[in-house]
Amino acid sequence: MFDYHVHSHFSPDASMTMEDAINSALEKGITEICFTDHIDYDCDGKNNDIKFNVNDYFNSIDFYREKYKNRISIKQGVEFGLQPHLINEYTTDANRYEFDFILCSIHSLEREDLYTGSFFNNRPQLDAYSIYFEELAKVIDTFDHYSVLGHLDVIKRYGGYDISLPLENYQEFISPLLKKIIDKGKGLELNTSGLRYQVGDYHPSMDILKIYHSLGGEIITLGSDAHQSKHVAFDFSNALKGLLDIGFKYIATFSNMNPQFHSIEKLIVK
Ligand SMILES: [Zn+2]
Ligand SMILES: [Zn+2]
Repeated sequence: MFDYHVHSHFSPDASMTMEDAINSALEKGITEICFTDHIDYDCDGKNNDIKFNVNDYFNSIDFYREKYKNRISIKQGVEFGLQPHLINEYTTDANRYEFDFILCSIHSLEREDLYTGSFFNNRPQLDAYSIYFEELAKVIDTFDHYSVLGHLDVIKRYGGYDISLPLENYQEFISPLLKKIIDKGKGLELNTSGLRYQVGDYHPSMDILKIYHSLGGEIITLGSDAHQSKHVAFDFSNALKGLLDIGFKYIATFSNMNPQFHSIEKLIVK
């Protein structure tokens, strides 16, 4: 089993060290872990960046690869917080550093960090969702330096609305967006953290994953988005069964940005 979305103390919002994450992964039978710490340029519209020293990060990963060799495989990934005005910065980073895997995520809209909630002030829920999918479409049109979309439909986690809108409210955005990433050879992650944030489903929801499958999408990674060690590999067996039920046969891992595919059936039997 593989966890392809894990934050260590190289992310300011994570409480675990790389070694904490590795030990938790080993306890849970994970054979490959991919660190995906945050780079979020201009996260708040005031030119403040969330970033880390990538060379220190790679050195730290090298250290643990050596220390835990033959026990677990460790990949060097990153989670980019995309916004349409930041394509050049992220393109530069993707070309400059040898990441194995890049998550393309949205954390800010209209230059406001979704986490703080101010983006949602006096904004009807459907408008918020629409802006999320429109900005994501702009990013996908102009940015190709990533492996999979991170936590697609994360907008439903925020805003304090009573319910998350059912898919029928924003379905018009989904198929064109999924078709585009399939045509470009990109994938989706199934991010299990939605269950921890009480949204009642994964990111993306299973109904979006069904559309992705029906359109011919095949590249899926599995990620816990763990920021603390107890959440590594959170709910992975259920997630794998869900994917199998939809008809997916493989989970992807990445080396040097190239996908490899692993039979879900074999992973479940293990
Ligand atoms: Zn994220
Ligand atoms: Zn994350």
